Amino acid sequence: MPHWTPELLSPAGSLEKLKVSVLYGANAVYLGGQKFGLRQAADNFTYEELSEGVEFAHSRNAKVYVVLNSFLHDNDLVELPEFLYLLEELKVDAVIVSDLGVISTIKKHSNLVIHLSTQASCLNIESAKLWKNLGATRIVLGREVTIKEASLIKKATGLEIEMFVHGSMCMAFSGNCVISNYTQGRDSNRGGCAHSCRFEYSINFNDDKNDKGHDVEKRAAQKAYFMSSKDLEGIRLLPEFIEAEIDSLKVEGRNKSHHYAGTISKVYSDALRFYKEHGHFLSSDMLNWEEELRKVSHRDYTTGSLDHYAESDSIYNQREHDDNEYVVSGIVLEAIPEEHLLVDVKSAFHPKDILEVMRFSGATKKCEVQFLKSLSGVSLERSKPGTVVKIPYIEGAEKFNIIRRAIKQ
Ligand code: SF4
Repeated sequence: MPHWTPELLSPAGSLEKLKVSVLYGANAVYLGGQKFGLRQAADNFTYEELSEGVEFAHSRNAKVYVVLNSFLHDNDLVELPEFLYLLEELKVDAVIVSDLGVISTIKKHSNLVIHLSTQASCLNIESAKLWKNLGATRIVLGREVTIKEASLIKKATGLEIEMFVHGSMCMAFSGNCVISNYTQGRDSNRGGCAHSCRFEYSINFNDDKNDKGHDVEKRAAQKAYFMSSKDLEGIRLLPEFIEAEIDSLKVEGRNKSHHYAGTISKVYSDALRFYKEHGHFLSSDMLNWEEELRKVSHRDYTTGSLDHYAESDSIYNQREHDDNEYVVSGIVLEAIPEEHLLVDVKSAFHPKDILEVMRFSGATKKCEVQFLKSLSGVSLERSKPGTVVKIPYIEGAEKFNIIRRAIKQ
């Protein structure tokens, strides 16, 4: 039986999502400040939010890592030292970095712990040793590395190793891609990726000679989504991660929803806890966990390069479509047992709808909305996003639980 399981590292796209990730079982979260990170669209943290987030996470024994993984120009570096002072003052647990200039600036101006970002595409032992000499204590390996290779890198370097276990994949070498720059004028390495690899492209065979100068049959242009990857899902490989002593398992998705942050954190933390206690999985539990992972918006799943190098079966090859089975109806702000829940409404629902509370542990609980009232007690026919409403108490519900509704009831 394992005495230890890896850290579960979840995305925190906003202060509220940080709380959701931590409460649903993440041992650590990663987030971006207003600058220097790679997710322009994420609701990046202000200083005050960062301060509250660090306090919240630390009070629940969770760590906070701040991403500084843009590749910077000299102008950008000027403001970095001041931000580093703030991060040290807030006692963040590490910064995630890819640019050598940023690493050098961190070492000159702070004692912050340095994790090497997956953006640096570290795939081998020699590269990892070099990054260690430059000050990295943890390497977030490129997604192209298998668990077996990661284990060898860990043994040879003694570094902490972090690997992606779940979420969207990048078709380029971990973000080293400029398709968005050329097609949309958006710089992927400054957080502007427009997911151009998800678009439909045509392959045109215009040349009627091959590279040896022989005539070839002209083929019609083919349209396809041949650069769009499936999503990563590594839940069945948790025993391999544990055996390889991978220190941290990362969930992609700072731009994704509360439902995603909560569901993925809960499923993987439940699975890791179960494995630590029993040393094996029950197939019925595994099927339940996989079913939960399919309730959040996702493409088809693949294990990517975790167990063998990714091949053509990792290509999604279809148009993106909305496959949400559930919508988040709200977040519990207050739970008064036997009386009511106060809910911060995220999407509209009505009296008689069936809502589900995602509890921090254990199965979800369903309940019919027998009453729906405003804070002042007026009965409502429909909840309005952005408002706070009262609904009946649902057994086991707690503050910050996600309340969701199946789209097809
Ligand atoms: S466009 Fe696709 S391949 Fe390029 S950085 Fe974005 S996600 Fe990666």
